[in-house]
Amino acid sequence: MSTADVAVIGGTGFYAFLENAQEHAVSTPYGDPSAPVAVGTVAGRRVAFLPRHGRHHDFPPHRINYRANLWALRSLGVRQVLAPCAVGGLSTEVAPGDLVVPDQLVDRTSGRVSSYVEHGAVHLPFADPYCPRVSDALVAAAPDVRRGGTMVVIEGPRFSTRAESQWYAAQGGTLINMTGAPEAALARELRMCCAALALVTDMDAGAEGETGVGQEEVFALFRSNLERLTGLLTNAIAALPDPEGCTCSTWADGIELTYEIP
Ligand SMILES: [Zn+2]
Repeated sequence: MSTADVAVIGGTGFYAFLENAQEHAVSTPYGDPSAPVAVGTVAGRRVAFLPRHGRHHDFPPHRINYRANLWALRSLGVRQVLAPCAVGGLSTEVAPGDLVVPDQLVDRTSGRVSSYVEHGAVHLPFADPYCPRVSDALVAAAPDVRRGGTMVVIEGPRFSTRAESQWYAAQGGTLINMTGAPEAALARELRMCCAALALVTDMDAGAEGETGVGQEEVFALFRSNLERLTGLLTNAIAALPDPEGCTCSTWADGIELTYEIP
């Protein structure tokens, strides 16, 4: 019997969204997750919440223990992960305040441990990095959610230069963020479904007419959209389909994994 079957990895503002939350201090072979995992009820489902950056924003994007975070959730029984995140806009197709469920990512991070595979031959299929079923549920959860787009994930913690930003945009990037990788790949290695819900908080430095990003505007826009996000996540969780049989899990059928899924 699992403790939770759905998880939300997001900002600390999401704590209030769980009913009757109980904390679980989980340790993993990869160290401790960003914080104890809170488990409570949302739309009748058992939902785990993990603040990605820690309870008091302790871990900047390049210092998050992504492997411990995903492992901790899986060890509680989680099979479906919803990953709200703040992003910058790279394309004029998006504007601050937009909600986007990206369908592609480009991993421009460096130096992060981004896999559970430490020996042997296990090659994750990742052409479509996000779960189509969970993405469907997120898109259907509110009328103003945009479907599709490429999220470029940079190492951070600094924002991009104008030239970098223009280059990402010229390569087809729609959104830019610092945490989307390796989160999605690790979820799939653990045979979990995962989809991102990106809130555009600002336009990136290279976007037309932009002066560059400030940290305060990012945090402020996220705070002012918290209620909208939690409402949307609640609707999506209520509508999540059975994870059984999803390609996010079945890819590993018949493959000898060199790590043991908890
Ligand atoms: Zn899936």
